[in-house]
Amino acid sequence: MACPADRRYHLVEMPSSARHRTTTVLVGDVPVGGDHPIVVQSMTNTDTADPDATALQVAQLAHAGSELVRITVNNDEAAQAVPVIREKLDRLGVDVPIIGDFHYNGHLLLTKYPACAEALAKYRINPGNVGGRHKDANFQQIIEVALANRKPVRIGVNWGSLDQQLLTTMMDANAALPEPKESREVMIEAMVASALRSAQLAEETGQAHDAIILSAKVSGVQDLVEVYARLADRCDYPLHLGLTEAGLGTRGIISSTAGLAILLQRGIGDTIRVSLTPAPGGDRTEEVQVAQQVLQSMGLRSFAPQVSACPGCGRTTSTFFQEMARDIQDYLRDQMPSWREHHPGVEELRVAVMGCVVNGPGESKHADIGISLPGTFEEPVAPVFVDGEKVTTLRGDDIVPRFLEILDGYIERRFPEPGSVSAGATTPA
Ligand code: SF4
Repeated sequence: MACPADRRYHLVEMPSSARHRTTTVLVGDVPVGGDHPIVVQSMTNTDTADPDATALQVAQLAHAGSELVRITVNNDEAAQAVPVIREKLDRLGVDVPIIGDFHYNGHLLLTKYPACAEALAKYRINPGNVGGRHKDANFQQIIEVALANRKPVRIGVNWGSLDQQLLTTMMDANAALPEPKESREVMIEAMVASALRSAQLAEETGQAHDAIILSAKVSGVQDLVEVYARLADRCDYPLHLGLTEAGLGTRGIISSTAGLAILLQRGIGDTIRVSLTPAPGGDRTEEVQVAQQVLQSMGLRSFAPQVSACPGCGRTTSTFFQEMARDIQDYLRDQMPSWREHHPGVEELRVAVMGCVVNGPGESKHADIGISLPGTFEEPVAPVFVDGEKVTTLRGDDIVPRFLEILDGYIERRFPEPGSVSAGATTPA
């Protein structure tokens, strides 16, 4: 079947032998697993009971490139708001599937509010948080709602809320061994066991094998790699990757990237979320940008043209180079929504923005289009390279706008609008 994600972003195929084989689960119209592109997802941090604020943030996340968006459904008001949010998104033309995140009372909310169960594209169940003494019964009740509504589920184990009964049983069994394993080892095994046991219970209740996604999130990179490697060894459910409680700022970005990159390189992972704690008033869409950049920098998907900019050094002590790199990067980002629609394939464009003659011309020749400054203390003279050939030299104060004109022309020719006559033309400017 046609892949909706393919329609939005170009997929760079990973050799199929390198990707861990999983089934395909349809979440709304987005396929997760199998040979489909690794899906980027995110989660809102608005009060779900506020449908205006939540619909707006879902739309922002979707606009930034989140292909699935999760919202918490934690009480009656939130459950009642879910169909309203769906309606608002539909009216805005935002068709991103929304996923309900349930803890403790999911079985009650999904049963009491059928419109909520219907509006959601998937239910996330945490087997450690299905509530009370009747865990299995509550879990099965959610699965029955999923079955009635033909919805997939994600069984999402989290080490902060691991099924304590299961963990205690496994810890006791370990303590009785002649040579007990370390507690970390038991905890990792308990997470894997919790996910697989719950998946089995879901299937015994009637949920289809290809309507289950698994995750097992921890907050340490080495633990993350270990737990997912074991899950991948033991099942073919699609895996949702993410480091939980990754943290603020660069720490969160780097920890998430490190963990995700190791697993993705091993072919493990069908959908990813980067959980960042935003700064107060910060931009929630940052987690989407980071997730996309992880996939793009690994060559697994393309979302936007890649800009190779040198870091600058003592040869670029003026701010001209920094401003030029920023202006070109901003222009590319701002144009992407329109380019994606009118110039399919533009995500593969490679642009070089270099500070001086040391590496500038060489790097520019390797890019599709590149510009190179001479370095500080010299006249701003900037050769422009297109498809490896020097096509012009820009001088003066309007170097950037003139370079952007050349860039626009190149995109028109190289990535023509479907149906136009200039398909395939790559004549230098
Ligand atoms: S290309 Fe030139 S300006 Fe950029 S880092 Fe290298 S030497 Fe410095």
